[in-house]
Amino acid sequence: MIRVENIVKSFGGFRAVDGATLEIAEGSITGLIGPNGAGKTTLFNVIAGNLKSDSGQVLMGGEDITGLPPHELFHKGVLRTFQIAHEFFSMSVRENLMMVPAGQSGERLWKTWLNRRQIAAEERKLARKADEVLEFLTISHLAEEKAGNLSGGQKKLLELGRTMMVDAKIVFLDEVGAGVNRTLLGTIGDAIVRLNTERGYTFCLIEHDMDFIARLCDPVIVMAEGHVLAEGKADEIMQNEDVIEAYLGT
Ligand code: ADP
Repeated sequence: MIRVENIVKSFGGFRAVDGATLEIAEGSITGLIGPNGAGKTTLFNVIAGNLKSDSGQVLMGGEDITGLPPHELFHKGVLRTFQIAHEFFSMSVRENLMMVPAGQSGERLWKTWLNRRQIAAEERKLARKADEVLEFLTISHLAEEKAGNLSGGQKKLLELGRTMMVDAKIVFLDEVGAGVNRTLLGTIGDAIVRLNTERGYTFCLIEHDMDFIARLCDPVIVMAEGHVLAEGKADEIMQNEDVIEAYLGT
C-alpha cells in the first residue's frame, strides 16, 4: 500500500533518516521499532507530510505522494494521529470528533453558504457518526466529558476515534501506548485490531512496548541509525542478533 524508497532527511549535517526503504502491506498492522534516535519519528513525519525529505520517494499504490501536505494526504485516506490540541480541551469528546471532517476538509467555509436546516441536518449526521465511533471504542459514557478531563489513555482512544470520522485507509500511530495503563492499553489494542479486521484499516505504529508490538504487529520493522535493520515477525525480531546489538548499543 505504501512504499518508502531510499528516504534521506538531514538536520544540519546529521542524517536522521539515512536511506530508509520499506513497505507497508495493505491490511497489515506494521510495527516500527528501534532504539531512541533511530529516525522513526522523522520518517513518520516525512511520510505523513509534516517534514520534507532531502531525497527519496513515498509511493501509495504506485502513486507518488512524496511531500504532499497533510490535508492532501487526508483526502487520500492517509492519517496520522496527533495529540489533541489544548484549544480543544474545553470541548466535549463528541464535539472533538465532530470537528474532524469539518476542520480538515475546508467544509466549514463552504457550510456558511448552506441554509440553517441543511446545517442542522449535517450536524445531526456528524453527531450520529460520533456516537457510533464512541460506541465502537467503548467510551460512550465519555461523550459529554470535556476532552481536557480525559486520562492519557482515554485521550489516545479519542485520537484513534478521530481517524474513524473520515474514511481512513492507513493510519500512522506514534507511541499510542506511552504512559497508558494496562487496561486502557488493552482497549486501545482491541480497537486497533477491530479497525483492522472489521474496517480494513492498515496501520503503521511506532511503539516501545514490545508486548503490545508482539500482540498486534506483523510484520515488525526495526530501524537503527536512520535505516531499516531488520524485518520479520515479532518473535524472530526479538532473537535477531543485529537487533539485540542495536538496542544494547544505545
Ligand atoms: P526516533 O523517533 O527513532 O527516536 P527521531 O526521528 O526522533 O528518532 O530522531 C532521529 C535523530 O534526529 C535524533 O538524533 C534526533 O536528535 C534528530 N532530530 C530529530 N528531529 C530533529 C530536528 N528537528 N532538528 C535536529 N535534529 C533532529
